[in-house]
Amino acid sequence: MTKQITRWSPDTCRCVIEYAWDDSVDPSTRVHSLENVITICDAHVAVFGGRAIGRGASAAALFAGVVDENQRKNYVYEAVQVVNPALIEGRGFSYSFDKSSPRVLHVQLVGANAVQKTNITNRITANAQLSGKVVLDP
Ligand SMILES: [Zn+2]
Repeated sequence: MTKQITRWSPDTCRCVIEYAWDDSVDPSTRVHSLENVITICDAHVAVFGGRAIGRGASAAALFAGVVDENQRKNYVYEAVQVVNPALIEGRGFSYSFDKSSPRVLHVQLVGANAVQKTNITNRITANAQLSGKVVLDP
């Protein structure tokens, strides 16, 4: 077992977080645990407060929140990719988060037809973890 530390800057916000993982564990079952919150973005300061820097309980909550947001975005990105890769390639996929807590992911699909939007919505609805936390903007 070798403890590895990765410095992560998610593509969903400007936080900078270090997490630890064990390189002897298979990637499919590997666990990432918070090592240190280096920087908190403005959006997450508004949710978790400046005390979430470092490695305490607030930092752990911030890490969980950032991971959840990133995974939601990745899930929806993947759903769009499966339904119509041209939307990704043609930059028809964009997203933002609102200011609620947890922050709701808003997805904008430019050039998707009604059937594609329905198929993407069905994939989102099928994932209970996304319930109430992802909105396809009209
Ligand atoms: Zn952030």
